[in-house]
Formats: sequence, structure tokens, C-alpha cells
Amino acid sequence: MDIVWQEFLTIIREEVGSRVVDTWFKAVSFRRWDMLLKEVYLEAPNAFVKDWLHKNYLILCQTHLARLLNVATLKVIISDVNEIKNSVSEHVVISTAEVKQEVVLYKPVKMAAIKRGNYTNGGYSFDNFVMAPSNSLAYAAAHAVAENPGQIYNPLFIYGESGLGKTHLLHAIGGAIKNRHQKAVVLYQTTDRFVSEFINAIRFNKVHQFEAKYQSADVLLIDDVQFISNKGQTQEAFFHIFNLLHDAHKQIVVSSDTFPQKMEGIAERLRSRFAWGLVTDIYAPSLETKVAILKKKAELSSEIVNDNVLHFIAEHVTSNIRELEGALVRIIAFATITQQPITLDLAHKVLLRMVVKKPRVVDFEAVVKVINKHYSCNSKDLFSKSRNKHISFVRHVAMYCMKHFTDKSFRDIALFFGGRDHTCVVYALSKIERHIKENVHFGLELRRIESELLQ
Ligand code: ADP
Ligand code: MG
Repeated sequence: MDIVWQEFLTIIREEVGSRVVDTWFKAVSFRRWDMLLKEVYLEAPNAFVKDWLHKNYLILCQTHLARLLNVATLKVIISDVNEIKNSVSEHVVISTAEVKQEVVLYKPVKMAAIKRGNYTNGGYSFDNFVMAPSNSLAYAAAHAVAENPGQIYNPLFIYGESGLGKTHLLHAIGGAIKNRHQKAVVLYQTTDRFVSEFINAIRFNKVHQFEAKYQSADVLLIDDVQFISNKGQTQEAFFHIFNLLHDAHKQIVVSSDTFPQKMEGIAERLRSRFAWGLVTDIYAPSLETKVAILKKKAELSSEIVNDNVLHFIAEHVTSNIRELEGALVRIIAFATITQQPITLDLAHKVLLRMVVKKPRVVDFEAVVKVINKHYSCNSKDLFSKSRNKHISFVRHVAMYCMKHFTDKSFRDIALFFGGRDHTCVVYALSKIERHIKENVHFGLELRRIESELLQ
């Protein structure tokens, strides 16, 4: 569970920024995951943190933990240490009404689960996958494999960064095959679970059953195989299963975050097996693709969201499709909760609170270069003492960017601009922040500057 929590923190950090994580989430611990009741128990260090999380981050916790734990929805129960001490069995439960409301709000795409050997792909299908240049090869290969399992590309190895659609494609393959061959045994498993299942099998002397389960598959879909790295024994077990299935012309599909040759901590023989069939990648989507995907997602949740809002989200969320979807979900949820229409302004408000891109450290010179280019300015003006309105504004933007994208202090920035007092930088930042809040277009402009800076 620690892995889930760590992964959760990583995602949250990307979404809301390090400061929030360090202030609110760092001291929280993941106590328990009740798979049957679909409840996650978190423990906050005190009532204050508990209330704050409850008020501000509950939806975020629910959305991401549900994804990570592969369920459609779950309940997050936050208690503080004292409560837990006082009553071991009582939990501070979110009122059912609240939970019900949130369940409706998410309208999440259902996740897959293996239920007593039945394969359900929980809504991830080829139909609701948007084909685009960034994924066309993987899509075509997945389709071909679904049409002719075990015949053409075996294994099919799909790699790409997180959140770009690998799991979706794996399930689409599983679902399509299952539709056509109802008796086929389609097994989907995340590598994490494969590993823990194997460890349990060893502990409880059930390696035989473990192997038998996987050997019975007609189609084996193994997700995020990179997590098998440095786990020698599990690799051996997997190698064995792989060989048996492959010899029997059973389809194997594997996903990973890198291509086989680059995977570390994986036995060479396994790596070379991965490359036996077809290795194909998915890369980051273009703006058009992002808009198309958002359109599809909005359609699926039967929400009418204007094109300009979809464009706005696509421009903001640059990293991956999961976050893109998360942003849309949050905007819809926010609009529903506050009973407002989904406007550009509302989208802006919601997204402004998310740090959607990982800030990377750049240097002052880089900021100056980009700012000068963006505002057709030159360094002479920028560093002058001119109080010209436009030049002051540009200078303020430069200061803002320096504070956000370098690791320098207010003082360093002030010095860089000719030894002014650090308060002028503080002032510049507050001005720019206010401007962002008041002016949607400026927010967008800043995003463009950011992306130029981070390129
Ligand atoms: P990965 O497994 O690569 O980390 P996922 O398959 O979990 O990524 O995709 C993340 C989210 O993005 C899912 O909800 C998925 O449905 C969605 N998604 C990714 N690519 C597409 C696409 N081309 N069309 C529609 N939805 C997509
Ligand atoms: Mg995945």
C-alpha cells in the first residue's frame, strides 16, 4: 500500500504543487484499504489537518486513489490520530449523502477488475479510444491483435509515459476478444498485483495455483511491467508463464513505461522475449488530439462543454491524458457543486489552483530571453529604471517567472535587476498574481511563456 500512497503523492504533487503536499499530505498516513467495502482509511496528525483535507482535497483523494486502486469509486475516510486512539472501531465517516453526491459527480470511466476469473474491461474499449498520430501505431497493433489473438504480434509490447492510454488499450484488446470469443480466458493484471500475488503464493505455498491461473489464460494482459524490475524470483515465474503461453500461441500483451532494451533490472532473457513480437509506443498527444479526447470524454459523461473551454483545458494541461481527464472531471464537479454553468471563467478558476506542469529550474538568462522575445522587448529596457507602464509590466512578469521557475530568492531577483530592495519583487509578484486572477487571457499568455521557458 505504501507504493500506492507514494504514487498518489507524486500525482498530487504534480497537480497541486509541492507546497500543498509538504504542508498537508506529508504527515498523513495511509492506514488501510478495505477492498470489499471500497474504503480507504487515512490518518491525519490532528483534527485541523483532517478538516482541511476533508474540505479541500477529498475529491482529489477519491479520484486519484480510485484510479490507483483500480476501482470506479471509493470512499475516503480521514481520521485524526486522537480519534483513532479514542475509538478503535469508529471512524469519521463522510455522510452517505455526501458520498452519493460525489459518486454521481465523478461519472468516472469504470476501471477493470478481475472478478472470480471473469474479465471485465470496465468501459475501456476501442470505441471510446480516440485514435491520433501519437497513438496510431499502438492502436493499429492493438486492433490487429484483438482481431487475431496469438497470430501476428506476440507479444505485443506497448510503451509510453504514464497517462497516455496504455491501460486503456490493454483493456480494449481484452474486451474485444472477450466479445468475440466468450469462452476465452482473458486475464488482465497489473504488475504490482502480479508481484504481490506471487509473493503470497510463496508464503502460503500456493505457487502451483498461481502458475496454473496464469497458464490457463488465452489472453494475458500485463500492465506496467517495469514494476517487475529487480524482482528476480517473480521474473522467473513470469518467464516460465510467458514461455508456456507463447509456445501455445496464446496472446500476450505487455505495457511498460520504456522500451524493452532500456528497462533496468530485468533479466536479459525476459527483455529479449519482450521484443520478440511487436514493440510500439504511444507518445504525448498534440493539442488537437487533446481537444478531441476531451470532447469524447465530455460526451461520454453526457456533459455539454463548450469548445473554448475544452481548448482552454487542453492548452493548460500539457502533461498527460489522465490529468487532462482529471481537469475536466474537476471542472464538471465544481460546476455541479456550485451550480454554475461551465464557462471559460469557471474553468480558469478551477485550473488555476492546479499546478499542472512540473516546474523545472531554469536560469535568469533564460527567463530574460523568453520574456524579451515574447514582449518584443530588449534587455536595455528591462534593466532600465524606466517607469513606463508597459516596461514595468514586462519586468514584473519576468520577476514572476524567475520566482516560479528558478530556485532563487526574492533578494537574488532584486539584485539581478540592479540591487533594488527585495520588496519590489514581492510587490511585482502580488501584482501579477492579481492580474492572473482578473484576466483569463493573461493567464493563458503566462502559460505560453511557461511552456516556452520549459522547452
Ligand atoms: P497509461 O496506462 O498509459 O498510464 P491510461 O490508459 O490509464 O494511461 O489512460 C489514462 C486516461 O486517459 C484513461 O482514462 C484513458 O481512458 C484516457 N485516454 C488515454 N488515451 C486516450 C485516447 N486516445 N482516447 C481516449 N481516452 C484516452
Ligand atoms: Mg496504466
